[in-house]
Amino acid sequence: MPATKFICPNGRRITIKRCLTACPQKERCMFLPTLRAVAESLDRGLKGATVTELISGVREAYLKKKTSYAVNPQDELYSLHGQAVHTIHENNTYGDILGEIRLQDKITSGKFDLYGKIIDEEEGVLGDLKVTSSYKLAKALGIYKLDVPTGEVYRTGARKGQPKTRKEFRYDGVRHVWDWAVQLNYYRLLLEQSGFEVKKMFIQALCRDSSLRTATERGIDKPVYIIPINKISDRWLLRYFGKKASMLKTALRTKTLPPPCSLKETWKGKKCLEYCEVREKCPHAAAIAELLQAGHAV
Ligand code: SF4
Ligand code: SF4
Repeated sequence: MPATKFICPNGRRITIKRCLTACPQKERCMFLPTLRAVAESLDRGLKGATVTELISGVREAYLKKKTSYAVNPQDELYSLHGQAVHTIHENNTYGDILGEIRLQDKITSGKFDLYGKIIDEEEGVLGDLKVTSSYKLAKALGIYKLDVPTGEVYRTGARKGQPKTRKEFRYDGVRHVWDWAVQLNYYRLLLEQSGFEVKKMFIQALCRDSSLRTATERGIDKPVYIIPINKISDRWLLRYFGKKASMLKTALRTKTLPPPCSLKETWKGKKCLEYCEVREKCPHAAAIAELLQAGHAV
């Protein structure tokens, strides 16, 4: 079941239906069409688990399907931005380019963004559109800062005699694109299963805070980047998605809560504390909060 309630800015909960009919607060927290768009984006009416749902933890996917939960509509605006970017592209996808087609196999389903001659004259290029933060983008591009000696030394103070350094950007770090790569590779697999050869894969990532100082400080100096994505073996993909899809299916059939999501899936517990939409329904989130309160590491 998708989210059924909105959380108002004062913390009150209200069914989405009631909010859209009439706001009982002094004034609406957003325009009615914006709230309608948020509500629509929460309920895509899809049966079965999608590629993106399976990349999250199985417990998260289970709770989102099984329980009635509440979301703050303002937290959904970034995802609405992403959908708006897709819509803009949808209206300009023609000629030798296919876009926004949902494909399905026995395990899952996924909608690829763009396929065809999307960069130059080469056919069979698969592209995915992301709207993301400069933090995630810097990680995806492998940007990091290194202390480089300036050739001078401190003449006074506690560090007297020690070499002075300045921070310089480096662009050859580990590229943290695992979730993007897994998602895009499964779209590749779905396309290939349907007879479409995929020669190359790219993410086009729009930085949502590109004009801010924080972005510059992270080495992000452009609003958009094209990031190549490497191939992941089909065997690995089928095993990974197959296992998660089967765990979810069994949990839904037997109405049994799956084990907590993994450390990777919860960003080392951070998602459980702040970002997971079903954290109020999950005992693991409460357990992590208790641990932190008691002064333990997650
Ligand atoms: S418009 Fe905003 S404040 Fe009003 S009921 Fe809906 S979520 Fe709450
Ligand atoms: S709170 Fe954490 S463990 Fe629970 S469903 Fe969400 S991400 Fe998974």
